Amino acid sequence: MLCVTTDYRADTGCPEPYLRRIAQAGFSHVHWCHHWNTDFVYADAEIEQIAAWLDELGLALLDLHASAGKEKAWGSEREYERLAGVELVANRIEMCARLGGEVVIMHLPGGSFEAYWPRLRRSLDELRPCAEARGVRIALENGGSHQSFDDIERVLAVYRPEYMGLCYDSGHGNCFPEGLSRLEKVKDRLISVHLHDNDGSADQHRLLFTGTTDWSRLARTIAASSYSKCVSMEVSMRNEPYQDEEAFLKAAFGTGLRFKEMLDSARSR
Ligand SMILES: [Zn+2]
Repeated sequence: MLCVTTDYRADTGCPEPYLRRIAQAGFSHVHWCHHWNTDFVYADAEIEQIAAWLDELGLALLDLHASAGKEKAWGSEREYERLAGVELVANRIEMCARLGGEVVIMHLPGGSFEAYWPRLRRSLDELRPCAEARGVRIALENGGSHQSFDDIERVLAVYRPEYMGLCYDSGHGNCFPEGLSRLEKVKDRLISVHLHDNDGSADQHRLLFTGTTDWSRLARTIAASSYSKCVSMEVSMRNEPYQDEEAFLKAAFGTGLRFKEMLDSARSR
C-alpha cells in the first residue's frame, strides 16, 4: 500500500491522466490535492466522475487536501467570506466522505493567532456537525515554523481527537531545526502525513531521500504515533530532473517503498 498526491504535476484541470499514470505506477491510494488552495466547489457530476475513475483504476482515496480558499476563506474577517469558506470546507468534507476518505487536511489562516482565533473557532464549530455526520476528521497541517505548531497545539487543545488531529508535513518540518521535535510532542494526534524532502532552505516537495530530512527518526516517530495508515507522499515534479511523468512516478514509488520498509520495521518493534 502506497499513496501519492494527485497534484504531482498540476493541481487544476482534468485529473484523469494523472490518476491513470498513478495507477499504472502501482500506487494503491491517492491523496486528493487538486484545487487544494482555490475557491473551486466540486459539483456532484465531478465527484461522481472521480469516484468512477478511482473505481475503474483500483485506486482508493486516502485523504483529501481541503481548501482554506481565497475569496471563500474560513478565517476571513469579512463575515460573508468566512461563511462562504465554511461552505467550501463542507464541500470537501462531503466529497471526501463520498470518495471513501476519513480525513481532510487544512491550513490555518495566516497572521496572529489572537486575531484569527475567534473567527476560526466559529468556523470550526459550524463545520463540526457536518464532519461528524460524514465520519470525517479535520487534520491541521504544520507550516515551517515554531509558530505554526504553537497555533496547532492551541487548537488541538480545544477539540477532541474525534474531530481534529495533525497532518505532519515533513518538508515544512525540515525547514526549521526543531520540526521533528515538535511532531514528537503531538504525535498522539497524528492522523495524516505529507511526506516529501528538501535541503532545508525551502519547501521543495522533492522525492524522499533526496534532501536532509532524518527519515529514520521520522519513521520511528510515526511508528510510535497514532497514525496507522500508509506512506503518503506529497511530492512534485517541479524540482526534479525527470522529464516524463512515468519516470518520476516510478522513482517516487521506489523511494516510497524504501520508507515503507523503514516504517514497517519500526512499527514491528
Ligand atoms: Zn503539505
